[in-house]
Amino acid sequence: MYDYLIVGAGLYGAVFARLAANAGKKVLVIDKRSTVAGNIYTEKQEGINVHIYGAHIFHTNNKEVWDFLNGFATFNRFTNSPVANYKGELYSLPFNMYTFNKMWGVVTPDEAAAKIAEQRKVIKGEPKNLEEQAISLVGRDIYEKLIKGYTEKQWGRDCKDLPAFIIKRLPVRLTFDNNYFNALYQGIPIGGYTKMIENMLEGIEVRLNTDYLKNREELSTLAETVVYTGPIDAYFNYSLGTLEYRSVRFENETLDKPNFQGNAAVNYTDRETPWTRIIEHKWFEFGKDEQGNDLPKTVISREYSSEWKPGDEPYYPVNDEKNGALYEEYKKLAENEKKVIFGGRLGEYKYYDMDKTVEVAMAKFKTLGLN
Ligand code: UDP
Repeated sequence: MYDYLIVGAGLYGAVFARLAANAGKKVLVIDKRSTVAGNIYTEKQEGINVHIYGAHIFHTNNKEVWDFLNGFATFNRFTNSPVANYKGELYSLPFNMYTFNKMWGVVTPDEAAAKIAEQRKVIKGEPKNLEEQAISLVGRDIYEKLIKGYTEKQWGRDCKDLPAFIIKRLPVRLTFDNNYFNALYQGIPIGGYTKMIENMLEGIEVRLNTDYLKNREELSTLAETVVYTGPIDAYFNYSLGTLEYRSVRFENETLDKPNFQGNAAVNYTDRETPWTRIIEHKWFEFGKDEQGNDLPKTVISREYSSEWKPGDEPYYPVNDEKNGALYEEYKKLAENEKKVIFGGRLGEYKYYDMDKTVEVAMAKFKTLGLN
């Protein structure tokens, strides 16, 4: 008999498993995929760690989280600084003095602030949706060229129908600082995320190709407690209806040249280009292999956003009002499942970044009073 059956070998599951194992508990981790690491899975191709389920750049202000992960990986000095491509015009992201200079020709922070102030006047009171929030933060020009098209492709919804908080993730700065994140600690684990998760799961029994929902009666009898990190609505057989998710499709290409776009991420912010962004994976590791040699080839991924339907991989919860209300109903059902802990982006239906995922897994573990 195991103390914990952990469903999902992604970040939440692996952190929880490690903490439980450290506390002397007997743990079994299962995953329906043939690989560990969930959506942070990386795979080596042409000497490059390819982020198979989309780019993941670790960043946090939480020292406890940072110290914990550094027990399993050494992080490099990568700093995210995406470039926006709007119909061939290139802009620096996040929104900073380089962006404002290119957009309006302004040179000083005062001039930039004046432009934004003039354009945000149309928004009265608290912004009610993403469009109002964006205009209120950076004005209409930047909204039209760098936000509207990208956001509508990404979410498949009008910016007026999306919650304001999504755009608040992006910093706005009147300085020449194009670090995408306001975080004290940032980087990519050297050797890839998969290696980091493998290190975290060392000495813990893992069964891959094992689908919990298809064998739940049998699997549940194996442990006192189940930690479920899959979609909460799937756990309840969609009995109250389906929560909406966005899915992503990647078109990967290996190119016989050393440099395709000169940056890890280029966002295509117009409405017409069908992909949202192109990731060139080698730049997460400065184009070098582990010995420090330049890599001759490059691997790129075009990212296409789509509405999730059964059978697709869910990536992003759609945290609007309708889905939020349905999630609350599922949460009530979850609270009655005394043997089960629901966790992670899918288990809690929250747009968690990686650091938050680690943080909530640690916090949940602490509530058990085992360490
Ligand atoms: N966003 C945008 N233009 C960009 C990049 C991001 O309008 O060039 C908006 C968009 O609404 C997106 C949100 O900011 O959903 C958050 O972007 P982020 O890059 O943080 O999303 P993730 O990396 O999680 O997909």
